[in-house]
Amino acid sequence: MTKENLSRRDFFKKGLKSLAQGAKETATILYSSEEPITPSRTLVRPPGALPEKEFLEKCTRCNECVKVCPEESIMKFVGEESPLHLTPMLSVRKSPCVLCEDFPCIKVCEPEALVMPAAREEVKMGIAVINEKLCYAWQGGQDCDYCIKECPIGEKAIYFDEVRRPHVSSEHCTGCGCCEYICPSRQPAIVVGTR
Ligand code: SF4
Ligand code: SF4
Ligand code: SF4
Repeated sequence: MTKENLSRRDFFKKGLKSLAQGAKETATILYSSEEPITPSRTLVRPPGALPEKEFLEKCTRCNECVKVCPEESIMKFVGEESPLHLTPMLSVRKSPCVLCEDFPCIKVCEPEALVMPAAREEVKMGIAVINEKLCYAWQGGQDCDYCIKECPIGEKAIYFDEVRRPHVSSEHCTGCGCCEYICPSRQPAIVVGTR
C-alpha cells in the first residue's frame, strides 16, 4: 500500500481502527454444532487452499501459516464444536492479504493444504462484492477510487465503467480484501465473501 493511501485510509478508518485495537489474535465466531458442514467454504481461506473438503482433511491446524504471515492476515477460526476449529482463515478487514510474491504461508505448509499457484493472479481465496447502495461512486457525488487504486491485480480484477462506477471481475478477483480494507465507507461498500 502506498504511504498516501495509508494516511488517507487512517483518516477514514478511525472507527474501524478502534475496533481492531480491541480485537484479539484469535477470531471467535459463534457456531452452531447443529449446522451441517457442507463441502463448500464458509470461511475465506489463505491463498492456495485446496477445495474445502480436501483442505479440511490435509490441514493439521499446525498454525505455521498464521505465524509466518508478515501482515498478520491469517487467524484461527475458533468454534470448539466445529470441525473447522483452529483452521486458518483470513480476516481482511483487520488485515488484507497482500499476495506476497513468495507466498511464505504456502511455503511453510508441509501437508500441502495450501498449494503454490502458477501466478498471483491465479489465487482464488474469495470474491469481492460491491454494495451499490453504500458505494460513494455508485451513489454519485464523490469521485471515489480507493478500491481500484489499492487492488494488487489491477483493472483486470476491478475497473470503472464509463461513468466511473466500480465493477469486480469474478474471473480475476483473488479475494485478497485490499479493497474492503481501504473502502472509506463507514460500513465497507465492497466485501469479500467465499466463492
Ligand atoms: S500451515 Fe497448512 S497445515 Fe498448518 S494450519 Fe496452515 S494450512 Fe493448516
Ligand atoms: S500471501 Fe502473504 S499476506 Fe497473504 S496470507 Fe500469505 S503470507 Fe499473508
Ligand atoms: S477486487 Fe478487491 S478482493 Fe478482488 S483482487 Fe482486487 S483488491 Fe483483491
